[in-house]
Order: sequence, then C-alpha cells, then structure tokens
Amino acid sequence: MPEYHRCWIEVSRDRLARNYASIRKAVGPDVEVCPVVKADAYGHGAAEVSRVLARAGARWFAVSSFEEGVALREAGIAGPRILVMADSLAVERAEVVTHRLTPAVHSLDELPVLRRMAAGAAEPIDFHLKIDSGMGRLGTRAPAAEIARALAAAVSPKLRLEGVMTHFASAADYQSGQTERQLAAFYELLDALPVQPRIVHTSATVPIAYGRREAWRSMVRPGHAIYGYVSPIVRGADSAPPRMLDVAPALAWKTRLLAVKDIPAGSPIGYGAMYTAAAPMRVGIIGAGYADGIPHRLGNKGKVIAGGQLVSMIGAVSMDVTTIDLTSVPHLKPGDVVTLLGEEGGARIDAQQVARLAGTISYSVLCGISARVAHVYVD
Ligand SMILES: *Cc1c(COP(=O)(O)O)cnc(C)c1O
Repeated sequence: MPEYHRCWIEVSRDRLARNYASIRKAVGPDVEVCPVVKADAYGHGAAEVSRVLARAGARWFAVSSFEEGVALREAGIAGPRILVMADSLAVERAEVVTHRLTPAVHSLDELPVLRRMAAGAAEPIDFHLKIDSGMGRLGTRAPAAEIARALAAAVSPKLRLEGVMTHFASAADYQSGQTERQLAAFYELLDALPVQPRIVHTSATVPIAYGRREAWRSMVRPGHAIYGYVSPIVRGADSAPPRMLDVAPALAWKTRLLAVKDIPAGSPIGYGAMYTAAAPMRVGIIGAGYADGIPHRLGNKGKVIAGGQLVSMIGAVSMDVTTIDLTSVPHLKPGDVVTLLGEEGGARIDAQQVARLAGTISYSVLCGISARVAHVYVD
C-alpha cells in the first residue's frame, strides 16, 4: 500500500459485489434488490459502495435522509433510483425534484406538501407510502379508508403512488409471532386500498436470509447482508429455516503500533489504572481509540489481532490510543499493523464478536467507525 495510515478500513469491492450477487440469487429474478447505503453504507463509504453495486447491477438504493440522497447523486450515482426512507417532508424539499429522490411518506400529513411540490415540477414525482404495521416506529397507522381518502386527494398524474412498504421489528425472533402479525396487518391494509402500487416491499436482511418468501413481494431492502453480516436468530431457532445467504464481511479495520514497551509487575495501565500488570509484560499502544470507533466499553475486554494471534486490550480505551498485551508476540515493533476487524494469519475477528464483548450490536460497531478513519478500497 503506497499511502501510510495510522488507522484505516480496507473495503473489498469484490466482496461487496459478491454479497450483492448472493442476495440477487437468493431472491430470484422477479424481486428487485435495493441495497441500503444509509449511515455512509454502515461505515463502508456510501459513494464507493454505491458505485460498486451500481456496476454490479443495482437499480435502487435506500438511504435515511435527503442529505444522504443528495450526496449519492453528487458522487455520480445518476441512473439508479434513490429511496429516502426516514426523513420528513414538513417543509418542501427542493432536492426531491432537483436530485430525483424518491420519498418514503410516513405520515398522511406529508401528502399535501408533496402535492404542492409536484405541481411545480416538470417531471412527475413518485413516492412510496410507509405503513406502521405494528413496529411502532415510522409509518402511518391510519386505517385503510383514511389512507384511501388522503391518496385520492393528493395523487395525480404529477404525483404517483409507486410503492407501499413496511418494516419488521422482530424478524430474527421465531417465537413471538410479531412478524406474522405485522405481515397479516400489512397485507390486509394493502388489499383494502383502492389502487395497488407497482412495488411492495417489507424485507431487510433477516427476512431475506432466513427465506421468509411470503414477505418479499417485488423488492427487498438488504443492508447488513450487503456488508457481509446476518444476525443470528434470537429466539425459536429450532423453528427457523436454515440461513440461505452466502455472504462474508467486506470490511477489515486496521491500525498500527505507535509504541511497544516492557513494564514490570505491579504497573498500572492507562486511565483510572483499570488494569495492573500481574507479571512483567510487553505492552503495545495502537493508534486507534474511541474517537476512531472502538467501543469504550471494550476496556479490559476487547480483542485485536497482533502478529496473527488474538490478544487482549488492557486498561481503558482512550480517545486516540488503546493499550494491548503483546507478551505473546514480543517481536512486534512500532509501525507494525494490528487488525481490529478482519483476518490475519489464521485469526479472525468480526463485528458480531466485537459487539458481544462490548454489549452492543454489530450494526453499531460498523456505523461507529468514525469519519477520521481512512477508507482504502481494494478489488
Ligand atoms: C436499515 C433499514 C433496512 C436495512 O436493514 P438491515 O437489517 O441492515 O438489512 C431496511 N429497511 C429499513 C426501513 C431500514 O431502516
């Protein structure tokens, strides 16, 4: 690698494309795949991830906010549709028109705003309507008759209902029955609408990965699986179908040793003296801390790969550096690479393992990798 970084991620374009292809193959040719690239593509860099996936055939992307949608257009994502899933149209948003973004309307109050915007636009605006089928988060909870009245008042040749969507709260729980209840409520409402949208979509990674075909309809919205992760079943694993996606992490996260030192038994390490050396030991100080995204809760608990071995974080995670135990790999020296996420010399650590140690979820570990961490893309 020509550049020298202190802390960086290495994202495999080939892996992203293969993960996308694996999802494509699982859902078959009749289901559109809309990769979710919100939150800077879960820390992977939305612009490059979207370019790679567009080359691999993606015709839709989903983001959270209008700003994220504009950023994709400005990065050159011109052809594919961009669905904005979680913003609000309380005020008119010129970028819907100027950047051809597709809003997901989650409250019927937004329809008059969109109607005004569409009236002044040269091209028709297509929108998706989000239904709260029982998650209790974004989406309208209005009954079908009320939705039908609001649509009748707003929809016109200039403002078209293209899609209807919902989202599951507990897709990885095969015991609670919540997903079945949500799907039944969603389909009942859909049937009661006077017009059927062209696109119906409900499924994120988990309902794709465990083959919940009855939910897929015309489009699916995978995020986590694009990056190579599928959450395990949380309850009722015996009644869950086998996982059908072949995906692997596309991101490795690396840093370098800034210093190596030997300390005598009894020495405290780092803030608050959270760790005391029981015997003489060799300590490494790596150039990554919580400001880079290492969860602070990994203090005294986390693992990294150094010299091809899993070794322990010792003491508190600091803002810019973290201390690790190099006693078992004494040959390492300043400048040597240490792996925070990824594979090295047969040892492996992924965001799900890190999340378990930190008491959080893998999504949060990936999204937590901060903006100051350099992005390196490899084929
Ligand atoms: C984030 C999100 C997704 C993607 O979820 P994954 O579990 O990462 O696949 C899909 N749909 C909505 C509405 C989301 O907010």
